[in-house]
Amino acid sequence: MTEHHPLKRFLTATRNLWDRAGTPRHIRETFLSIIKCGTILLGANVYASSTQCKLVYFTCKSRFCPSCGHRATKAWQEELEAILPDIPFVDLTFTMPAELWPILQDNRDLLHCIPTAGANAIETWAQLKYGVRLFIVIVQQTFGGFLDFAPICTLWSQQEVCEKLHIVGSNNLFLTKAN
Ligand SMILES: [Zn+2]
Repeated sequence: MTEHHPLKRFLTATRNLWDRAGTPRHIRETFLSIIKCGTILLGANVYASSTQCKLVYFTCKSRFCPSCGHRATKAWQEELEAILPDIPFVDLTFTMPAELWPILQDNRDLLHCIPTAGANAIETWAQLKYGVRLFIVIVQQTFGGFLDFAPICTLWSQQEVCEKLHIVGSNNLFLTKAN
């Protein structure tokens, strides 16, 4: 197994120094899971059709792992929380009708336009009907939980205004600013 990630290479090369008695168990487990992350050592799911087969290795999902994306996700969340106003948000999810999926899959540029169109529609409606301006954050998701192409668009907007407008979201997000 050739490992390209610097931290994995470092932990593998220095394993004799930390994978031994005297090192706290949680540190050893974290280091081992980082080494195994994204390899067959953690197991995998097999996605197969009649013509193709894809093996997707499990990731460690450790907060400290820089290779599986979990750390990047956490860093992105913290960055976003630091930027957003310290108020509750409502999560509005727009799911694309399945009939549109083949069109979107063949015309990927359209995927970039759809979140903006959704946000503009909500923003314009709120402005015209109630004379208020919504603060909207767009989060686009292209693939579903089964790694299938199932684009959805999530908009976050301030909870207090949404409740006054009777906009019901799928989730209430309580983002707190990072200290
Ligand atoms: Zn990982």
